[in-house]
Amino acid sequence: MDLGEGIRKAISRLTGATIIDSKVIREFNKELQKALISADVEISLVASLTKKIEDAALREKLPPGVSPKDYITNMIYDELVRLMGESYEPQVRPKRILMLGLYGAGKTTTSAKLAKFYQDRGLSVGMISCDVNRPAAYEQLETLAKQANAGFFGIRDEKDVGRIVREGLRELKGRKVIICDSSGRSAFDSELVAQLKKINEEFAPDEKVLVINADTGQVAGRQAAEFDLAVKITEVVVTKLDGSGKGGGALSAVSAAHVRISFVGTGEKLNALEPYDSKKFVGRLLGIPDIESLIKNVNEAVREANIKPEELASETLDFQTFYTQLKAMGKMGPMKNMLGMIGLNDVPKEVTETGETKLKRYEAIIGSMTPEERKEERLVREHSRIVRIARGSGTTEKDVKGLLNDFSKMRKFYTMFKNDRNLNKNLSKFMGGQH
Ligand code: GDP
Ligand code: MG
Repeated sequence: MDLGEGIRKAISRLTGATIIDSKVIREFNKELQKALISADVEISLVASLTKKIEDAALREKLPPGVSPKDYITNMIYDELVRLMGESYEPQVRPKRILMLGLYGAGKTTTSAKLAKFYQDRGLSVGMISCDVNRPAAYEQLETLAKQANAGFFGIRDEKDVGRIVREGLRELKGRKVIICDSSGRSAFDSELVAQLKKINEEFAPDEKVLVINADTGQVAGRQAAEFDLAVKITEVVVTKLDGSGKGGGALSAVSAAHVRISFVGTGEKLNALEPYDSKKFVGRLLGIPDIESLIKNVNEAVREANIKPEELASETLDFQTFYTQLKAMGKMGPMKNMLGMIGLNDVPKEVTETGETKLKRYEAIIGSMTPEERKEERLVREHSRIVRIARGSGTTEKDVKGLLNDFSKMRKFYTMFKNDRNLNKNLSKFMGGQH
C-alpha cells in the first residue's frame, strides 16, 4: 500500500464520527502510524506527529459545522506540509549540481530540465556526462544539452569518471552552473558507490540531488539513506508526477536523509519542472488536490453534458454521443492532470483538446448525417456518403475523414475504459463524490 493510500484509509475511519474523543483519535492514530511506519518514515517522527494530532484534537474545540473527519484531515495536511518542508525557492546563482539516482529515475532528463531552468534565468549552464555505464548516455545528454542551450562535455568510452570531471570542469570553465549526470543501477551496489564518491571528490558539488520516480514507494527511504551515506545528498527531486504515482515515497526519502524536495518533474519535456509546492504536493498525496476550481468546472461540464459514469460504461459510442462527449471533454482540457490522478492516463489528446473551431465543424458534419448514419459508423465510411456529408455541411472530405479518425480514437478509449473495472470504479467514485 502506498503512503497516501494508507493515510487516506486512516482518514476514512473518521467517516461518520460525530465527535472527537480519545477513542476515535487513538484508533485513527493507530492506522496513521501503521501507514507511516510501513512507508519507512522514522519512528521518532511518527511518534511526535501522532502525539501532536492527539493533543491538538483533544484540546481544541471542534468548530461548529465542521466534521471531525474534515477537521483532522486538515490537521494531518498541515503536519505533513511541515514535515515535507515549505515550498522551495530555487537559488539562482552559480553552483555545481550532481545528479544521483537509480536507472530510469529521470536523472538525465532532470539534468537537462535544470539546465534549461537556469539558462532561462540568465545563468550559462554546462553539463558533464558521467554516466559511463549506459552506452547511449553520452548521446542522450548531448542532445538534451543542445535543447536546453547548455554547454556539454563528455569523453566517449572513458570509464574514469575522475578524468571526465576534471577535463569537463576545465572545458566548461566560465559557465555559471555546472550539472553532472551520473550512472544509475537497477539496485544500489558498491561499484556505484565507488564511482559516485570519485565524482563527488573531483566535482565538489554544492547540490547533490537524488532523483526518484513518483511511483517509488517506501523503498525510496532506503534508497535515499544509501545515497546519503555514500555522498550526502542535499535534496530530492520527484519525477513523473504527471503519471499515476503520487509521490508517497518522497516522504520516506525526505525523512530518511533529512533533506527536502526541491523540484518536481511533471512531464518528459524540458519545461516540465516545477519548484516544489508543499500544498500542491501534499494535497495530491492525500488525494485532496488543490484544484477545487477545476473540479467545479468538471462538475459543471459533466452536468451539462449529462455524463453519467454508469452510462459511459454501458453506452455504445455513436456520432451523437461522441459530439456531446467532445464538448464536455473540451471544457475539461485543463483537467488532464486530474484525470491522470484517477488513472485515466490515456485519454486521447484530440478528445481533451478539441478547439472551438473544430467543434463547430464537427457539429455541422454530424448535423448533415442522417439519423441512421449518426448511429452507424460503418455507413459514414462509404465514400459517396463522405462526399455528400462534406458538401451538406460546407466542409471538405478531409474534414469528414478527420472526424472519423478522432471518432476511432475515442472509441478505442471507450473500449479500454469499459474493460478496466478499476478505472471505472475510480471514475464513479470520483464523479459521485463531487455532486
Ligand atoms: P535516468 O536513467 O535516471 O537518467 O532516466 P532518464 O532521464 O533517461 O529518464 C527515463 C525516462 O523517464 C525517459 O523516457 C524520460 O523521458 C522519462 N521521464 C523523466 N522525467 C519524467 C517526468 O517528469 N514525467 C514523465 N512522464 N516522464 C519522465
Ligand atoms: Mg541517465
